Amino acid sequence: MLLTLSTTYQPATDLGFLLYKNPAKVQTFNLNFGHAYVFYPQASENLCTAALLIDIDPVALVRNRRGPSGDGFTLEQYVNDRPYVASSFMSVAIAEVFGSALSGNSRERPALVNEKIPLTATVAVLPCGGGEALLKRLFEPLGYGVDATHHPLDENFPDWGDGPYWSLTLSGHATVHDLLTHLYVLIPVLDGDKHYWIGDDEVDKLLRHGQGWLAGHPEKEQIVNRYLKRRGHLARQALTRLLEADQQDAEETEGSQTREEEAVEQKVSLNEQRLGTVMAALRASGARRVLDLGCSGGNLLRLLLADRQFEAIVGMDVSHRALEIAADRLNFDRLPPKQRERISLLQGSLIYHDARLEGYDAAAVVEVIEHLDEPRLAAFERVLFEFARPKTIVITTPNVEYNVLFEGLPTATFRHRDHRFEWDRQQFSQWSTRVAAQYGYAVRFVPVGTVDPIHGPPTQMAIFTAGTESLTPPAAFI
Ligand code: SAH
Repeated sequence: MLLTLSTTYQPATDLGFLLYKNPAKVQTFNLNFGHAYVFYPQASENLCTAALLIDIDPVALVRNRRGPSGDGFTLEQYVNDRPYVASSFMSVAIAEVFGSALSGNSRERPALVNEKIPLTATVAVLPCGGGEALLKRLFEPLGYGVDATHHPLDENFPDWGDGPYWSLTLSGHATVHDLLTHLYVLIPVLDGDKHYWIGDDEVDKLLRHGQGWLAGHPEKEQIVNRYLKRRGHLARQALTRLLEADQQDAEETEGSQTREEEAVEQKVSLNEQRLGTVMAALRASGARRVLDLGCSGGNLLRLLLADRQFEAIVGMDVSHRALEIAADRLNFDRLPPKQRERISLLQGSLIYHDARLEGYDAAAVVEVIEHLDEPRLAAFERVLFEFARPKTIVITTPNVEYNVLFEGLPTATFRHRDHRFEWDRQQFSQWSTRVAAQYGYAVRFVPVGTVDPIHGPPTQMAIFTAGTESLTPPAAFI
């Protein structure tokens, strides 16, 4: 059973960082139904291919009662297609071997994780009774080109016609995380057999991995029914929950937020620069206990977690769904206990006094204030500067002057439709200076991204420090 993933992204060997598997090594993993091997048949600057080979032990399957149900012929439990075709065993192997990539984590290439890169996946043998039409209906709505080859039942007897097996190649621009997630869910959907008992946690698993794409998939009913092996009550439960997710999607959520804003800001990979600058400010502050307020999908949390300076990390967001995405991406359930203890996620709103935010050294509020209604800003100021009162506060927000330089952004529009305002440098500077004076903080300003001589930087950042004199007068702001 073989799955290969290839990219022509340059340098293509970054695929190794995204998969957490070194292209120079052959690695072996023990699974409870056999072994998995990861190796790279090619690894150059221009083209890199990772292969996941799964070697199933049919005898182990029988011992663990994980083989086919055996209502066919007598020896079926020993002689069957399980070792050779992609099935739910492949999904288990993906989760075990590429767990970090499946959750969208990469320590070495955190920014690349969310970037769509050219990817091709080949599944050597896939059972698919629904044929090419079904493969297309499942994968094309997700943005992949589908190339499917049907194999004859027996090459020596062409008259017998085609068998149930296909080779599948998917190609498109996707994140590695998305591609692995789609394969994880859809391979068992294509295969009739499922080697483990379908219980309630399978519904959770399906919805977790289906987050962001399943609710809007035109074949969602078929996917849910087949994934849950047509257990009606579970399928109904899953579909109801998907409907709720779909409605939530329509509201303002993390997914569309980042995608939309990223599309506008992509040219300068601004998000990456912003997070880098915020991290630098937090590190320099000497903070050990930090808050990420409006943490969304957890991009900053991931960087904080990777830095041992930060002993206690709290992510807070008003959106429950954003927090679910963050927990998923941070691989919350599978973090080693020492890491797990360092981080927590809170649901809450920044415009209500919240005692849970007290006792921290620093707070980051990255691209959040522009989502608050202007009349609510006063409440936010008190919540953060008066009650939570961390020693350092780092706030970033778009510089509206820069918008004219973004291609594809119509004039006089904000970078995202949920933005309630976008300020120019003077407005941000005036607001920050007034808040600093009112609550006893010093403030200095740091430009983020490439500074345009006329329009300034794409993102503006203010660093507030409690109880000290202003380090740089606001007039010095570039
Ligand atoms: N800091 C993240 C996300 C910015 S998007 C980043 O830089 O990528 C803005 C986030 O603020 C969203 O996740 C939104 O849910 C959250 N948010 C909006 N209003 C909020 C409020 N009143 N309280 C807490 N979070 C809020």
